[in-house]
Amino acid sequence: MNERLSALRRLMRKEGLPALAVTDLRNIRYLTGFTGSAGGCLVMPRSAVFVSDFRYRSQAARQVAKPFQLAEHNHPIPGIAAEAKKRGVKKICFEEAWLTYALFRRLKVAAKGIRLEPVSDLIERLRLRKDAKELRLIRKGAKVNCEGLLEIVKMIRPGVSEEKVALALEMAMRRSGASRAAFDFIVASGPRGALPHGVASSRKMHRGDLVTIDFGAIVAGYHSDMTRVFSLGRPSQKGRDIYEIVLKAQIAAVNAIFPGTGCGEVDAAARNIIREAGYGEFFGHGTGHGVGLDIHEGPRLAPGVKDKLEPGMVVTVEPGIYLPGWGGVRIEDMVVVTEKGREVLTRSISKDLVIL
Ligand code: ZN
Ligand code: ZN
Repeated sequence: MNERLSALRRLMRKEGLPALAVTDLRNIRYLTGFTGSAGGCLVMPRSAVFVSDFRYRSQAARQVAKPFQLAEHNHPIPGIAAEAKKRGVKKICFEEAWLTYALFRRLKVAAKGIRLEPVSDLIERLRLRKDAKELRLIRKGAKVNCEGLLEIVKMIRPGVSEEKVALALEMAMRRSGASRAAFDFIVASGPRGALPHGVASSRKMHRGDLVTIDFGAIVAGYHSDMTRVFSLGRPSQKGRDIYEIVLKAQIAAVNAIFPGTGCGEVDAAARNIIREAGYGEFFGHGTGHGVGLDIHEGPRLAPGVKDKLEPGMVVTVEPGIYLPGWGGVRIEDMVVVTEKGREVLTRSISKDLVIL
């Protein structure tokens, strides 16, 4: 945690930011270790204060990393303003992406006389590269995913509803160490497979369906995210063909991952294969995204993104083809960028089309 605070201070110095109000709970957790649902921080060059209310008095004392002084206020926004005034702060930078207009107005009133300046992507930039502790938790999440899917795979059969599969999967993952689901699971069978975000519905699966299952766990705040497709009975020739194209695209993108590679190049590795097969217009989303304290964070693997991959980044690789009225296929792995290349965290579940 101390290293994270030092890195933030280096970044603030580089950007000429005298004091930063941190109001996003994920950023607060990253910086301090605090897991509660209300709090805020004020980071300055030589001091840092964590603000929360009475409900979190003992939790904050236990969790919040040492360099942070603890302060108690009824609400984090006026609390941050009061702590800034006490320390003679002249300007507060705030996280523009994570402060609603109402909270901004509240800050403006409480911090009267102090200049306010919006900033973005400060702590998010530090969070791009995961440290050893974060990688351990993300690995555990990926393992929980794989184990959960193996445990419930026999439930994926004709006559069972998508919702039942989602529920069983969540329970299996929680039994093996997830604190909760990372998002509403996508279980999209048959024609519903054409919905890239088709969350599990009451539809009962049929023989002949392809079933896309996109799911993830939260382990100690860190998200996991993977997708596999199953075939209920022998797939049609078209189903087989589409699956092969997506698999080829997915493998090409995974293999394109190296430190120094542009995010857009990884996207292009998958997209070119799908385009050449004639399905370019049916792959309308990016190839992948970073994953960590948030389910979708940087870097983005999408067309034209110039950012380069660096060791310690964790990304998903998830191209897909979605055909309205017919269905769809997406295959998704979680991948860590290493010093020499990559490591696929979700490799223990085969990507061959499994026929159930
Ligand atoms: Zn996913
Ligand atoms: Zn994803």
